[in-house]
Amino acid sequence: MFARRIAVIGTGYVGLTTGACLASLGHHVVCADVDVAKVERLRAGKVTILEPGLAELVAEGMAGGRLEFVVGASAAVGDAEVVFLCVPTPMGQGGAADLAAVESVISEVRTILPVGSIVVNKSTVPVGTAARVSGLLKRKDVPVVSNPEFLREGTAVHDFLNPDRIVVGCDIQDAAERVAALYARLGAPTVLTDAASAEMVKYAANCFLAMKLSYVNAIAELCERLGADVADVTEGMGYDRRIGQSFLQPGPGWGGSCLPKDTQALLQVAAAVGYDFSLLQATIETNSHQRQLIVAKIREAAGGRLRGRRIGLLGLAFKAGTNDLRDSPALAVAALLRAEGAELTGYDPGIDHDVDGIRVVSDAYEAAKDADTVVVLTEWPEFRGLDWSRIRELAAGCVVVDTRNHLDPDALGRHGLTWWGVGRGHLD
Ligand code: NAD
Repeated sequence: MFARRIAVIGTGYVGLTTGACLASLGHHVVCADVDVAKVERLRAGKVTILEPGLAELVAEGMAGGRLEFVVGASAAVGDAEVVFLCVPTPMGQGGAADLAAVESVISEVRTILPVGSIVVNKSTVPVGTAARVSGLLKRKDVPVVSNPEFLREGTAVHDFLNPDRIVVGCDIQDAAERVAALYARLGAPTVLTDAASAEMVKYAANCFLAMKLSYVNAIAELCERLGADVADVTEGMGYDRRIGQSFLQPGPGWGGSCLPKDTQALLQVAAAVGYDFSLLQATIETNSHQRQLIVAKIREAAGGRLRGRRIGLLGLAFKAGTNDLRDSPALAVAALLRAEGAELTGYDPGIDHDVDGIRVVSDAYEAAKDADTVVVLTEWPEFRGLDWSRIRELAAGCVVVDTRNHLDPDALGRHGLTWWGVGRGHLD
């Protein structure tokens, strides 16, 4: 393998992981960010993103002289052969993806990109963005390749180095092959395609996952109303290889930094070409409804009203293993509880500051203290091992609402607590 000179623009979840992992594969990587403080922290070896193995890889790359951090894209691309764009593409006006960061990087570097270098877009962008970026670049010698990223927060390094697949799309085959070669050592199945198809893969995959979750949440609600147990139902469904076990867990609704914005963006992409994507619209609506159902359950557990009730929240991040709060379903549920007058205390192993009107405390017992209802919102493994007899003594009420079906109902029952799950009825 030839070591390549690579620039990575944006040092967030995707960019820092990409930079550190490509350096670990032997490439020379310069990572750039507009956030001066972030670059300074990274130069000092401080990684604030909670990702197993990431801080170690960053340290290793820096010590080996294969990884450095600079302020601003233009400082990174001077002698780059490949430039990865890993900048945010948040939800913009009307739900469409906001491409301002991508466009700003392109206008910053277009005249200084080395002859024959390749721009690779890893940010999640609507179909047609590679063509649009090419148009902005006005550089016939610099191809634009789409290489969507599929890593999951909490297992980002593992996912990057052990991908299910690599997708690389470009209308110039040779450029796609050169980008695919960067990953050759990973031995993953590789889909080489055109740019539009590569861009579509990412939205199609994320929206499918959102749909699967909305579907299972709806099935859970039906189970609850019909007296079936969703845990057995999903186990029975999941053995079917056409369905699979993953993403069949009901919960408080899906969220995080990707699914909400990507579902909205695909809806807008579809509308722009005159397609009424009602399946995706229903997926999004089912998700908002799920939050209402969860709040109704908590209200019932708290005695029929939330005003003045103390609710102890266990978990705030959008999923276990990360400290990312962006579009967290836990915070969405918390906001609805607060709107009805509940007093919220929360604990999350990755969060050490108050968030959105939630008093954040330093352990689960403090969150449960005097709580009328304890609610599990994120599936942190450590919640399974809590001392439930201590929680029973500390809490004012005796119902634990487990929105992730994460706890062992028997363990709670043994200590006089009542477990309310999702789609499984109430177990004492
Ligand atoms: P992030 O917010 O964690 O990081 C983005 C970084 O880019 C920030 O550090 C920001 O300061 C920097 N930045 C913004 N404008 C810049 C500019 N002009 N020049 C240089 N740096 C700039 O975002 P993220 O979660 O890493 O997501 C990045 C993209 O990857 C998004 O399109 C997202 O949809 C996609 N994606 C994210 C994930 C995920 O799990 N987070 C997974 C796959 C794909």
